[in-house]
Amino acid sequence: MQACAIHAAKDLRLIDIEPVTTLAAHEVRVAYGTGGICGSDIHYYHEGRVGNFAVKEPLILGHEIAGTVRELGSDVTGLHVGQPVAINPNLPCLNCRYCLAGQTNLCQEMVFFGSAAVTPHIQGGFREELVVPQQQCVGLPDGFDLSIAAFAEPLAICLHAVNRTQGLLHKSVLITGCGPIGCLMILAAKLAGVRHITATDVEDTVLNTARSLGADEVINIRNDNAPVEQYESGRGHFDAAFECSGNPLALQTCLNAVRPRGTIVQTGLMPLGENPVPVNKLLAKELTLTGTFRFHEEFDTAVDALVNQRLEVSSLLTGVFSFEDADEAFMAAVDRSRHMKIQLRFD
Ligand SMILES: [Zn+2]
Ligand SMILES: [Zn+2]
Repeated sequence: MQACAIHAAKDLRLIDIEPVTTLAAHEVRVAYGTGGICGSDIHYYHEGRVGNFAVKEPLILGHEIAGTVRELGSDVTGLHVGQPVAINPNLPCLNCRYCLAGQTNLCQEMVFFGSAAVTPHIQGGFREELVVPQQQCVGLPDGFDLSIAAFAEPLAICLHAVNRTQGLLHKSVLITGCGPIGCLMILAAKLAGVRHITATDVEDTVLNTARSLGADEVINIRNDNAPVEQYESGRGHFDAAFECSGNPLALQTCLNAVRPRGTIVQTGLMPLGENPVPVNKLLAKELTLTGTFRFHEEFDTAVDALVNQRLEVSSLLTGVFSFEDADEAFMAAVDRSRHMKIQLRFD
């Protein structure tokens, strides 16, 4: 069967891999339906690395995957052949001190789809068929749209980021950076009951999407930074901020525009190198600056929200490409003026 593997920067190939012949009792065979290209996939494609994690051997990308159950291991219950499923790319060990404390996203032995964090690399989900333990399959109602289900992973990231705050009920929130994560952050913040969302970016098209998803105010900081500066005056304005751009300047904005005792969640990965934290600003405003990393129970919450609360994520899907055209897809994925989320399929 075919799989889509990165060999080095800009060297992406469809390769042949051996399918798993016999399932273990707890495993599920899933026919690939669709998969989203994520920021980390884009870094692997364009730079051959994500931060410190460099591609040293062919790496099958992809971790935002939805598909259809093809076969069940003898012990699997609660799923049926033909059922659509969202695949959780996290496989924590359930044994280390963090797993035992219920913080599986911080697992020391995490197996995460499509990652060069360890060698041999952990292979990802862009393959015609996946065999995974049942715990990684979340069942969906029959007929559920797989292109929506593939948003469960990035939405789970955002729900976890919300859970890193002390709660957002009736809070005013700043979101810097309105790519797929920033936009899904808007939906996650609304689910948490925020009162007002201000979103910033440098691209009008993504800000239009942000507004349509429920941002109350959008600011293009490339055109005019004055509206943001207004929020920075005094001692700041917002109760909380989600820094989704990974731009050190945006973090500065958050530090200035969040009111004393507010919370900033660093959600976007910063570039390698020095990112000095202005400690005195944290000190003087009694700010909380926190990180957020992957997710745990939020994956199931994300699936439930997509199914039962019918979160409107379809407007984020701006392109669907065949794996034959994967290079084109990865080039398009960095064109923020035209594309938000792109998915890859085998047909
Ligand atoms: Zn992702
Ligand atoms: Zn663990």
